[in-house]
Amino acid sequence: MEKLDGYKVDLRGMTSDTVSYHWQADNDFFSAVQGPEIKHGSLDVALRVKRTSDAYELEFQLRGGVEVTCDRCLEAMTQPIDALCTLKVVMGDDYADDGEVVTVPEREGTINVAWNIYEFAALQIPLRHVHEECSLTPALSQGEMVNGKSSNGKCSDPRWEALKQMVKSDK
Ligand SMILES: [Zn+2]
Repeated sequence: MEKLDGYKVDLRGMTSDTVSYHWQADNDFFSAVQGPEIKHGSLDVALRVKRTSDAYELEFQLRGGVEVTCDRCLEAMTQPIDALCTLKVVMGDDYADDGEVVTVPEREGTINVAWNIYEFAALQIPLRHVHEECSLTPALSQGEMVNGKSSNGKCSDPRWEALKQMVKSDK
């Protein structure tokens, strides 16, 4: 995990109430994290840590794309990622994660957010992900799958677009 040491965030040592971090999570990142869904990708990650009276609010902005497998033709495709995710961290005696709040041991005072970044990215992958041209063709024969497919298809999922609009209009 030493490759991911750069993703350690020092909370206890914060010298001001807001601290910013910036990472490029690339293929090396995804191979070091060893998550099940994403093996390759390129994400621009900006983190803003805000210290409040009782907690630390971590706001992650993820932008870029990750490589997933098209559900239909089983070829690689790029899933665009553009997400704003938040994480609340408090200090306590032992490490804990209840899904909403992460507790880090006060004696350490740091949190490594590599896995959180991975999970946020994985959450953005829609349940069903297919190339645009694959989704337009309801039933492909074996031959069509081999011959009729372009190598760099773009992905688009109407539900995902709708969700993005919801998130945008939420601001
Ligand atoms: Zn496909």
